[in-house]
Amino acid sequence: MTEHILVIIKPDGMLKGHAGHVLARFEETDLVLVGGRVVKVTRTLAETHYAHLKDKPFFAELIRFLMGEFHDNHDMVLALVFSGDDAVKQGRAIAGATNPELAEPHSIRGSLGRVTTKGVFENVIHVSSDPVEGEREIKLWFAPDEVAREIFPVKNINGRKEWL
Ligand code: UDP
Ligand code: MG
Repeated sequence: MTEHILVIIKPDGMLKGHAGHVLARFEETDLVLVGGRVVKVTRTLAETHYAHLKDKPFFAELIRFLMGEFHDNHDMVLALVFSGDDAVKQGRAIAGATNPELAEPHSIRGSLGRVTTKGVFENVIHVSSDPVEGEREIKLWFAPDEVAREIFPVKNINGRKEWL
């Protein structure tokens, strides 16, 4: 079934110059790139993106991580939208397990990620965990006009498109 996922090259991946590698790995699949933008990560965006994790002990650090506070304040990430059959499964396989130390060695997280001495997971990329999350995340990070295919229904408000 066709699914849509959000992939983010996180600040560690951006700072270390891994965006091209990540794109190349996804280009090896039959997933279709339908959106891409460099986004400045504000606190509100980070907290909304990870809202479901707000009770986790690592939440505060996670937000700081996504805002680039552990990486030279590099608060610009590359956000990508991929569509295709089993996009979640394909994307999660390329990413590898959440903890880079446990991730399969050839996965992006396994080969390029690390756990810092302070215990922060530098795991290079985000990939949506299921199609429902994918839709929520894509609608959070992208406006309808920023996605090149109409993957979700939109409405027209005074000539402006908004997600339905
Ligand atoms: N995370 C962390 N410590 C943990 C679990 C998660 O720092 O013990 C961070 C990590 O950056 C991860 C993000 O929180 O990518 C979101 O966690 P989730 O469980 O959704 O993992 P993911 O879907 O990214 O594999
Ligand atoms: Mg997740």
